[in-house]
This record gives sequence, structure tokens and C-alpha cells, in this order.
Amino acid sequence: MKIKLVIFDADKTLWDHYNISEFQDPIKIINENEIEDYKGRKLKVFPEVRNTLHELKDKGIILGLATWNFPDKTEKILKILNLYNYFDIIISRDFPYKFIMISEIYNELRKKGIKVKPEEIMFIDDRRSHFGNVWLYLGNINCIEMWKDIKNHKEILFLIE
Ligand SMILES: [Mg+2]
Repeated sequence: MKIKLVIFDADKTLWDHYNISEFQDPIKIINENEIEDYKGRKLKVFPEVRNTLHELKDKGIILGLATWNFPDKTEKILKILNLYNYFDIIISRDFPYKFIMISEIYNELRKKGIKVKPEEIMFIDDRRSHFGNVWLYLGNINCIEMWKDIKNHKEILFLIE
């Protein structure tokens, strides 16, 4: 498949925490890939994430994020982790409907004059339950279940070709 746009889920896909909306200030940086909030909640970015995002960007792939979190939390955590700038479009909503978020990404791109077909989009999420509606409403998007269809993020680089 020739992929032009890769859309990531965040919680449990990019990092090990299941809900970054819980994180509260002050947030401490433990190292490049680990943070801790003042109540001791910890988050670790998965090992290959940073390299993979970097390589996807290098290949000219458009990167999107579709996450069920409060937008201000998403922005804050991504900036603290130095991951914010990898994403061309970030859609963070306080509802779980990924197909709506993906269509928002799609519309943003169209506004910029970029047309992408469903077949040219890859959506990566640790929850397969989102995929039904994505296919139903948006067509033949390549949905990849993190940890099941692929075991680490580097595999994405082989799937996009
Ligand atoms: Mg998730």
C-alpha cells in the first residue's frame, strides 16, 4: 500500500499510560521518554516511537493524531515530551469517536488543498473497536491494531510502502 497519511491514537499506542487527561501539574521530566505528574502518575513513550515518527516525516508522510483526551492536556504532554512538532494535525476531543476525529483531519487537509484517498490513510490504534465505524463512515482506511497487527512501531515503516 502507498500511504500518504498516518494517523495515530495516543494513549496505549504512543505511550503506556491509558489516559493523559488525568495528568496534573506540576509534571516532572524523568528523561526524554518519561514523565511523572505530582501525584506520581507515570508515562513512558514506547521505545521506537520517536525514531519512527522521525523516519515517517523524513519520507514525507503527513502525520495526524486522533485522541480521546482534553485538548489542553494533549498539547501540554506532547510539548513536554517534545513530540508536538511531529504532527501536522492534532485532533483531541473529549469523546471517543475516532471516525469523527479522522474526518476532521481529512477536512483540515482538504482546506489546505491536500487530497488523500481512504486507501492512502493508515490509522493505528490499540482498540480494534474503533475500526468498524471508521470503515463504515470513511471507507477503506488501513486500520492497524497496535500490539496485534504490529508488535512495534518500526513495522509501520514497512507497511507504508
Ligand atoms: Mg488508545
